[in-house]
Amino acid sequence: MTVVTKLEPSRADAEPELTDGFHLVIDALKLNGLTTIYGVPGIPITDLGRMAQAEGMRVISFRHEQHAGYAASAAGFLTKKPGICLTVSAPGFLNGLTALANATTNCFPMILISGSSEREVVDLQQGDYEEMDQLAIAKPLCKAAFRVLHVEDIGIGIARAIRAAVSGRPGGVYLDLPAKLFPQVIEKEAGRQSLVKVIDAAPAQLPAPSSVERALEVLKQAKRPLVIFGKGAAYAQADEDIRSFVEESGIPFLQMSMAKGLLPDTHPQSAGAARSTVLKNADVVMLVGARLNWLLSHGKGKSWGEPGSKKFIQIDIEPKEMDSNIEIAAPIVGDIGSCISALLKGLGENWQKPPSDWTDMIDAKKEENVAKMAGRLKKNSTPMDFHGALGALRTVIKERPDAILVNEGANTLDLARGIIDMYQPRKRLDVGTWGVMGIGMGSAIAAAVETGKPVLAIEGDSAFGFCGMEVETICRYNLPVCVVIFNNNGIYRGTDVNPTGGSDVATTVFVHNARYDQMMTAFGGNGVNVTTPDALYNAVSEAMDSGKPTLINAVIDPAAGTESGRIGNLNPQSTVGKKAGGTK
Ligand code: ADP
Ligand code: MG
Repeated sequence: MTVVTKLEPSRADAEPELTDGFHLVIDALKLNGLTTIYGVPGIPITDLGRMAQAEGMRVISFRHEQHAGYAASAAGFLTKKPGICLTVSAPGFLNGLTALANATTNCFPMILISGSSEREVVDLQQGDYEEMDQLAIAKPLCKAAFRVLHVEDIGIGIARAIRAAVSGRPGGVYLDLPAKLFPQVIEKEAGRQSLVKVIDAAPAQLPAPSSVERALEVLKQAKRPLVIFGKGAAYAQADEDIRSFVEESGIPFLQMSMAKGLLPDTHPQSAGAARSTVLKNADVVMLVGARLNWLLSHGKGKSWGEPGSKKFIQIDIEPKEMDSNIEIAAPIVGDIGSCISALLKGLGENWQKPPSDWTDMIDAKKEENVAKMAGRLKKNSTPMDFHGALGALRTVIKERPDAILVNEGANTLDLARGIIDMYQPRKRLDVGTWGVMGIGMGSAIAAAVETGKPVLAIEGDSAFGFCGMEVETICRYNLPVCVVIFNNNGIYRGTDVNPTGGSDVATTVFVHNARYDQMMTAFGGNGVNVTTPDALYNAVSEAMDSGKPTLINAVIDPAAGTESGRIGNLNPQSTVGKKAGGTK
């Protein structure tokens, strides 16, 4: 019991200025340069969003947390700062969790901040509103997970979340903020002092000089060297040194999907148009921020030529990545900027560019493949096929190299990746390591918000279905996003039939002749229906130049498209008693 003596000054005189959990969360984010929140309001974080907006933060409210999460992770990839996603408890948290796991898988820094219910009630399982042990559920799906119970720990909690998200291999971090935390008060000055401005959140990680020398030895002995850049290299923002290394070494390169444009796809050393040839025939392959996962056939198998025919050099910030699929002859562990600059210095004056029989062979193959493709891209037919439509969009990007391209779908993804050249780093956002569908609208929104550049989202009709409602968000914030739906009436194709002859359509088929463009006009955006590549080109160009939210329904031949795009081999098929009505 506190004994109040006569000598104590009156309470009113001593009343200190107070702050609370709401304000400290906002102050901590702002102090660390995090000024945009992607989220969905609701209990217990409605006021947090309101107050963040009042305090000058940009708060983008979505229709579903998954897309707010994808937006946050795309923002992380584009800016090298953790993207912030804010959700309500249990169901909202779970909706955001797919994006958090996806961010971690892709090595994108983001922080999922979710409000949660009362610890005491949750832990005793007494049935609170939206009761769920969110921290425990998030843990296996992210890089780190923290909970803050006391207002004076908010600064430390957010500092830890930021460091965990961006240092070393970047990834998703979960931050659990129980409802009771927000109204807790503390003296304003004590609150201010409890905040942490994170110094050097992602410190340079220098490679060991001996690992750089070892790699240079391997490179020097190569007769047919190849460099493969992955999205880690794009993320690293070491663009100038990467270009110098490529040009001074003279080594041909491939760029993985989201690394496209790190160097222009039209660069003379790009081997993109001779991909199979270089993968098969290279004798030394240097991976830079690219993992030897399924997207590179694990570094083995037919596409990689004779077993044992190559040596690998790998640059990665994560030491455990080395030897994950096959032996790495020269691992270089460190951040890509530091590693590439060390290699660049090590090339020295006596560096010999790769033998011309190797580069001539690549050039010949490129020429042959480009010539083969050229005719198909110019086809101006109705209904459109993928190549004709993509030929038109390829020109749109060529004419606007600083626009951002978002891309998802099956055939729509595989073919666009190959056909549309990129010219600048970090301009391509797509389905990433998991090949997840539904990233389109979240990525497009983040791209527009973070960069202010026009965005072109090329979406399969099925992929768009996972995130379509967010066109309202695009219209509400009047974002310069042009969405093109490649509408071939279904998943992979629109021509499958129900093998029983029953009245249900086949499992992969959608409503025929759907008019996705009308979804956009419902919210005040522009909607256009096009049936020829020329009309597509005109409509997209106009949308990109006006910056007005636009959705273009591009009518594609329902018979165009192959099962699972280029990864049909991953889709097990029954050979027993199959009555499928598929159009093979
Ligand atoms: P892709 O799918 O484009 O091939 P991956 O996602 O497989 O790319 O690989 C990206 C790799 O880049 C990851 O292994 C990650 O650890 C690494 N990485 C990310 N950022 C950096 C960085 N700044 N420095 C070094 N490596 C990085
Ligand atoms: Mg389709």
